[in-house]
Amino acid sequence: MSKPTDFTAILAQWEAERPDTVAITFGASRWTWAELATRVRRNAAAQRAAGLVPGDRVAVLDLNHPACLELTLACAQVGTANAVVNFRLAPPEIAYVINDSRARILFVGPEFAGAVAQLRDKLPTIERVIRIGGPDDEYEAWLAAQEPDAAVHPSKPEDCFVQLYTSGTTGFPKGAMLTHRGMVAHAHNVAVDQSIGPDAIVQVAMPLFHVGGTSYSLAALGQGARIHMVRMPDPAAVLEMLEREKVTHTFLVPALLAMMVKVPGAGDRDYSALKTLSYGASPMPLPVMRATHEIFPGVMQQVYGMTEQCGVVSVLPTADHEDPAVAHRLVSAGKAIHGVEIKVCDPVTGEPVAVGEPGEIWVRSEQVMGGYWGKPESTAAAITEDGWLRSGDGGHMDADGYLYVTDRIKDMIISGGENIYPAEIERVMVEHPSIEDVAVIGVPDEKWGEVPKAVIVARPGHTIDSAQMMAWCRERLASFKCPKSFDVIDALPRNPTGKVLKKDLRKPYWEGHTRQVA
Ligand code: ATP
Repeated sequence: MSKPTDFTAILAQWEAERPDTVAITFGASRWTWAELATRVRRNAAAQRAAGLVPGDRVAVLDLNHPACLELTLACAQVGTANAVVNFRLAPPEIAYVINDSRARILFVGPEFAGAVAQLRDKLPTIERVIRIGGPDDEYEAWLAAQEPDAAVHPSKPEDCFVQLYTSGTTGFPKGAMLTHRGMVAHAHNVAVDQSIGPDAIVQVAMPLFHVGGTSYSLAALGQGARIHMVRMPDPAAVLEMLEREKVTHTFLVPALLAMMVKVPGAGDRDYSALKTLSYGASPMPLPVMRATHEIFPGVMQQVYGMTEQCGVVSVLPTADHEDPAVAHRLVSAGKAIHGVEIKVCDPVTGEPVAVGEPGEIWVRSEQVMGGYWGKPESTAAAITEDGWLRSGDGGHMDADGYLYVTDRIKDMIISGGENIYPAEIERVMVEHPSIEDVAVIGVPDEKWGEVPKAVIVARPGHTIDSAQMMAWCRERLASFKCPKSFDVIDALPRNPTGKVLKKDLRKPYWEGHTRQVA
């Protein structure tokens, strides 16, 4: 396995070694390494012709498309950076992210052209909007107008390579400046961990605005592997592609897997090429894990990570999914990957807590971001002087170094001075035969400050009875952890990577109250 250096050099290496091998497929289109490298150099030329200079930002608002990856790679050559926008955001939020990035050119997919036209006068930094795809593909014309430019801006390893935004599950999304050094290290660490080599066939089904899309693509690209990019992950189509393309590696999120396992005939296909099905980005409910394992035995691997670390920082390996003797580990996020240190600290003092004790998960690695774009104070609050990133996640570590992620500290419920981790309650409740999906939130309470409430999605044909729910929880949890009320809704609000938007769920209950956060 080759040790990558930087992505411009990596692309040149694969172009030289395997020019005619397919690098990326997308629908009916395919690009060889030589074609990809040429397109990236045209893109760099077009950026320079448009007057972009090192430090500038471009932004992409589109469903998955290889153009986004080309832009990211071309930015590395020019010294600019691609700020990829979450396409699921509402128009005012999209405007917030684009304006936050101060992008000068916005690349937009046909589905978003209308929304952008309406927002146009609210995007003061955008000098030009270029449509990707559609009948008269402006992006293709923009590339075609230029001769490839191989000049490379001499970026430093700590310069921003790509700007990905945090999900914004706890507040406004923040632009994490992911560095050349960080992304190269992440690509290498993930490739080593998942044995991604030049013969791998990697399905990229997660959105490119998320590390699960962009960083995973770059991990494949780093090794000269073939990428099959999915525009929008439809559960049946993802399964079909796994079989048809003989995919060897994929990364999927629990919310998508929950839908995939229900696709009729999901288990009847031939997935024998698959070596690693990694999953993460949000907690994996045990029933979904079991159903996934039934269809994909011997290949599941959990990853835990975050935007600020370019993606993956710990892995629960396949072996731990297969050995019944360590079944208790299935609720753990595994161990720190190669090149990453993890410790659990008291969030106030920053001192490491004892084995098994709860605290905040801190991570140190080369993968760490350069900082939040335009937010030095948030950066200083997130990264300690000696390089530890405060993840904002609560958790604990066992004596064998296995990490257990409990919750976002901001989602932790403080009830009468007791800390309650919603994930612990959710894990117990989701095992109830009538529950399809559940989220536990803190709601205001005069006596205790806040108390847990369960928001439940019932299984089709089942009704939710509060007394029964209470009894189920009482048998399995300390009484102060048991939800005091149960709401039933049709679907939980989730972001595109499947994270429940707890701040949205909490909002109606907290009007006129102030929530205390640990
Ligand atoms: P914001 O900081 O804007 O609220 P965010 O932290 O949700 O956004 P991301 O970087 O996309 O944005 O998500 C990282 C978070 O996802 C982690 O900090 C953790 O809370 C959660 N997460 C990732 N992997 C796992 C996993 N395997 N199990 C449980 N939670 C996970």
